[in-house]
Amino acid sequence: MKTALVIGGSRGIGRGIALKLARSGFDIWLTYHSRSDAAEAVKKEIEVMGRSCEIMGFDVADFEAVKTALEAKCDANPPDVLVYNSGIIRDNLMVWMTKEEWDAVIDTNLSGFFNVTKTVLFPMLREKRGRIVVISSTAGQIGQAGQVNYSASKAGLIGAVKALAREVGKKGLMVNVVAPGVIETDMTADLPEKELKKLIPLNKFGVVDDVANTVDFLCSDAQSYIHGQVIGINGGLAI
Ligand code: NDP
Repeated sequence: MKTALVIGGSRGIGRGIALKLARSGFDIWLTYHSRSDAAEAVKKEIEVMGRSCEIMGFDVADFEAVKTALEAKCDANPPDVLVYNSGIIRDNLMVWMTKEEWDAVIDTNLSGFFNVTKTVLFPMLREKRGRIVVISSTAGQIGQAGQVNYSASKAGLIGAVKALAREVGKKGLMVNVVAPGVIETDMTADLPEKELKKLIPLNKFGVVDDVANTVDFLCSDAQSYIHGQVIGINGGLAI
C-alpha cells in the first residue's frame, strides 16, 4: 500500500489533498499544528473510505519537533508522497510589518519546508522513487501588496523546489510546486470577495478540489514527466 505524508492536512487545502489522495488509494499520514479536533475529523473521513490515517501534531517551524515526529518513522517506512502544505499569513504593509510577523511567516512557510523535507528526503531517496509537491502561492510568483513576508516565503519555496528538482531527478524523485491563487478556505474567509473577483479573469474564487485534483494528478501514475515545474491554479490571476 502506498503512503502519502500530508503536512498541514487538518483543514482547508491540505484536508482536501488528504481526502483526494486517500480516495486514490493512499494511506495517509496527516499532520497538524494545534487543531487536533480538525485532524481527528479528517482521520475519521479517511477511515470511512477504508484507508488508514495516522495523525501527528507538531510545529513545522521547530526542527527538533519535526525530527522527533518524522525521522524514525520515515526511516523505517519512507512515504511514497510528501505534500508540504502548511502555511500561515501575517499580513501588513512593509512599513508597519513587525519582525515577529516577518519571522513567523518565513519560519513556518519556508523553514518549515526545509525542516520537513530535510527529515524525509534521505529515506525517500533510498527508495529511488517518490513524489514531492509543495504548495506555494500566486503571491510568490507575482508579489502581493501587504504580503511582503508571505510573498517572500512562497517565492522562496519555488526557488527551493527548482534547485531540489535538479538534485534529485536522477535519483527517481519527482518534485513540483503548485501555486494556488485565491481558494475558498479559512485563510481567505475575510477577504473582500466582490473587489477581488474583478482581478480574476475567471471571475470567481477557486475551491479546494481545484488544488487537490492537481496534486493528486502530480502524484499519480498518469504523469511521469512533470518535474521542477510551477503549476498555477489561479483562474488567470497570474498569466
Ligand atoms: P488553512 O489556514 O485553512 O490551513 C493551514 C494548515 O496548515 C492547517 O492544517 C494548519 O494546522 C497547518 N499549519 C499552520 N501553521 C502550522 C505550523 N506552524 N506547523 C504545522 N502546521 C501548521 O490554510 P489554507 O488551506 O488556505 O492554505 C493551505 C496552504 O495553501 C498554505 O500554505 C497557504 O499559504 C497556501 N495557499 C492558500 C491559498 C488560499 O487562497 N487559501 C492561496 C495560495 C496558497 P492547524 O489546523 O492545526 O492550525
